[in-house]
Amino acid sequence: MLRLQFFSCTGCERVYADIEQPPTCAVCESGQFETIESERQAMAYFTRS
Ligand SMILES: [Zn+2]
Repeated sequence: MLRLQFFSCTGCERVYADIEQPPTCAVCESGQFETIESERQAMAYFTRS
């Protein structure tokens, strides 16, 4: 069973949820990502207004 991971773009802080790290950011085209270890921390990105 594949588990979603969360990646934060270091360029624009866009967060992606995927099974593996995206090759590049769709927003700023950076290839640099930080893995977000905490699911609660990741959800904060999606829920903030
Ligand atoms: Zn970006």
